[in-house]
Amino acid sequence: MKIIMKFGGSVIDDPLKIKRIVEIIESFKNTPDGKNDIICVVSALSKVTDKIISLADLIIKGNRNSIKNFVEEMQSDHIQLIENTITNEILQLEAKNIVKNITKEFQDILNGLALISEITPRSLDHILSFGERMMAPIISYSFRNSDLKSDYFTGKDIGIMTDSNFGEARPLMDTTKLRINSKITLLLQQDIIPVITGFIAADQHGRITTLGRSGSDYTATIIASCIQADEVYLWSDVDGLLTADPMIVNNAQILEEISFAEAAEMVLFGAKYIHPRALEPVMDSNIPLKIRNALNLSCKGTTITNELKPSDQIIKSIISIRGTALLDVSGGIMVGAPGTAAVIFNTLAKNKINIKMISQGPAESSISMILNKDDLGKAVTSLELKLLGKVIKHLNILEDVSIITVVGSGMRGIKGIAGKIFTSVSKENVNVIMIVQGSSELNLAFVIKDEDCEKVVRALHKEFNL
Ligand code: ASP
Ligand code: MG
Repeated sequence: MKIIMKFGGSVIDDPLKIKRIVEIIESFKNTPDGKNDIICVVSALSKVTDKIISLADLIIKGNRNSIKNFVEEMQSDHIQLIENTITNEILQLEAKNIVKNITKEFQDILNGLALISEITPRSLDHILSFGERMMAPIISYSFRNSDLKSDYFTGKDIGIMTDSNFGEARPLMDTTKLRINSKITLLLQQDIIPVITGFIAADQHGRITTLGRSGSDYTATIIASCIQADEVYLWSDVDGLLTADPMIVNNAQILEEISFAEAAEMVLFGAKYIHPRALEPVMDSNIPLKIRNALNLSCKGTTITNELKPSDQIIKSIISIRGTALLDVSGGIMVGAPGTAAVIFNTLAKNKINIKMISQGPAESSISMILNKDDLGKAVTSLELKLLGKVIKHLNILEDVSIITVVGSGMRGIKGIAGKIFTSVSKENVNVIMIVQGSSELNLAFVIKDEDCEKVVRALHKEFNL
């Protein structure tokens, strides 16, 4: 079997954790059923990407001293990790030299940027790549330290080519597939475990791009679909996807198995955040995706697959999304006027406001939207300036609302689910403000006051025996 193993920053940040990772790889490499080919993808150490992003400020201020301190600290964190992880002296020395050289390049680039006090999306992607670039050799040398053959690569080296949309680049799958296959096949033939930096790739001109925050998951699934892997494991420090937020429902359960479509409804909001586009490549190629906790191997985690075992579980999970606000725009002018919705959404889009939920009744006299609470002020101002008195007459807002989403592909075509949901909500004496169900019938979402969120989630969790 060909298995992709992606390790998140929270499970590679100390020597004991890396030791576990090596043991995991050893156990997957040689099983009683035979040998497997393993390909590893690694993230940067926890928080490193955030810290590099905050460097941008120092660059603009041209603050070279603080930049130097930052780089020295980053180097010493990684060197310390090597010293406490890689016991073979020769390997340890080699690994240290690699990290020192990468650090030197990092420092030179930062000095250059600080001299001109400028950071662009392109240069930001370039400096962001150093978090992952420092970790890949450390993990690869840890494998060598345990007599596993291994080598390390950047996403660019291994052949992931993207468009030039720096910060949120998309892979050009055909070229990527050709390149990755020729590189990885050769490595696997020699029994080498490639350790590849997650998150980073390169555009057609060879300039470094990143796939968006949490992009290492995406790297793993891109590679998996290119080489038609058998399985992808996302190892982090959470047990899996859950039936509800465990902070609200104390007996929330781990979902053993769910479909890609269901997972797509859940992964942005639960304990395990997965890059929103990361499911696509494996869903299309029908490769199971497993979420596992590297710090709790006794938990079998969640498998996301297209081939679910038959189950009579109609509802899988109750998702609660807090910190949202409702914005309702209305006015007689909107009725029967083609293009009204387009103008409203365009205005919001131009101001980079993301809309989470939309509804409009057939009378067309109002449109309700749910936004992040933090975006509300900006949304109201932009609509007032551009459209009030012209396209719309009134703007109403409701702060502090929650979206509750009931997820489960089993509800498709089944009668009475909505009845059950809303009876349960009304028994809690809670008012429903807005309702949306997509025609895929995979989820039913509704909005309530945030203060009612916890009791509604608990009631639904109980109602559906989750
Ligand atoms: N290091 C990147 C981030 O924090 C990518 C990843 O961790 O997946 O967003
Ligand atoms: Mg991360």
